[in-house]
Amino acid sequence: GDLNARDTDLIRRREKLLGPAYRLFYEQPLHIVRGEGIWLYDPEGNAYLDVYNNVASVGHCHPKVVEALTRQAGILNTHTRYLHETIVDYAERLLGKFPSQLQHVMFTCTGSEANDLALRIARSYTKRSGFIVTKLAYHGLTSAVAELSPSLGDYVQRGDHVRLVPAPDTYRGGGDIGQEFAAGVKAAIADMQAKGIEPAALLVDSIFSSDGIFPDPQGFLRPAVEAVRAAGGLYIADEVQPGFGRVGPAWWGFARHDLVPDMVTIGKPMGNGHPIAGTVMQPHLVEEFGRKSRYFNTFGGNPVSCAVGRAVLEVIEGEGLAENAGMVGTYLLDGLKALAMRHSIIGDVRGAGLFLGVEFVKDRTTKEAAPEETARVVNDLRRRRILISATGPRANILKIRPPLVFSRENADLFLAAMDDVLKDI
Ligand code: PMP
Repeated sequence: GDLNARDTDLIRRREKLLGPAYRLFYEQPLHIVRGEGIWLYDPEGNAYLDVYNNVASVGHCHPKVVEALTRQAGILNTHTRYLHETIVDYAERLLGKFPSQLQHVMFTCTGSEANDLALRIARSYTKRSGFIVTKLAYHGLTSAVAELSPSLGDYVQRGDHVRLVPAPDTYRGGGDIGQEFAAGVKAAIADMQAKGIEPAALLVDSIFSSDGIFPDPQGFLRPAVEAVRAAGGLYIADEVQPGFGRVGPAWWGFARHDLVPDMVTIGKPMGNGHPIAGTVMQPHLVEEFGRKSRYFNTFGGNPVSCAVGRAVLEVIEGEGLAENAGMVGTYLLDGLKALAMRHSIIGDVRGAGLFLGVEFVKDRTTKEAAPEETARVVNDLRRRRILISATGPRANILKIRPPLVFSRENADLFLAAMDDVLKDI
């Protein structure tokens, strides 16, 4: 149906007050007032299946997380310059999820700050300035990180220290994607060196979310990482999207590539919606930085945030959500592959755990992208109260990324709706 007067008025006030830089999802924007598990509810009480929100990863308003948050908020919330048990306890458990070389975690409030801090540490350790990212990467919103986020558009100026490399596109690329991706990284290194700039780090989202979702084959990232390390640079894994069990029992995107990063940045699902994020690192990188400077983040690592983070970790482990992501993810992938047999608009289906992409094309031979049809699928599903969005350079890739509590039954509902919607396209 059309927008009612209440929502039309809300949109008008929002634009007037928040200005022109905000965006809403969908032709018919959605007004939601409540969330529970995999479901979101509008003011009329209609339920929407959330197939998109990777932040509320243990489910919207999980009672254990809400309880941890409200309990600690009622006792104490302050910064990290007093002794407090929770930050140490949480750091210990969190670092237990990483390879043993990664021994420190520094807490921030957002993924952007986590990447920003990783850049500062990389610069101070290497005494270099060059950074390599993929062509349509998103790493955050600070001035420094926005320069490394070409998905924001060319309006954001990039300094000479930034180099973009083609994403490891297994659908459109040629033979050995690992060698191909590494060739791009080597060319970027040579190009910056020709201008007297040495590489400080390769910073990549381990699942290439905004570039179009490229999870496979496992291990393909290794040659690129070897190339940057051979040139004296670091490897920073941005796990803000794939981290915390989304890709299945491997837990982290980099683990699927059998790599140990120099630094890892984490965020989004870490607090299930509460703003907590962090930078995890090998200790030698921050030794001089910590001695000569200091780190203080007014809100980062406060007792409430750490209590929330710990509860999220306990729920992921206690409910076996990484294992669920692996199982339901495989089931969903198979279901999507079956849909591809019936609908030729589906050019490719790929994914790891509950992070999947479906690429729509006008023609399977030419692989011509189908962005208008993709937008129709997204909006038609929204009318059927299923929430999803699209990604990639041609906006023709469905980004499937539900909370990790997604069940087979939820998957069946989604697949049936997709089948229906695709019949009309
Ligand atoms: N890295 C990646 C891969 C992201 O997707 C995002 C957020 N979309 C960020 C970093 C930035 O995180 P935040 O929005 O919490 O600053």
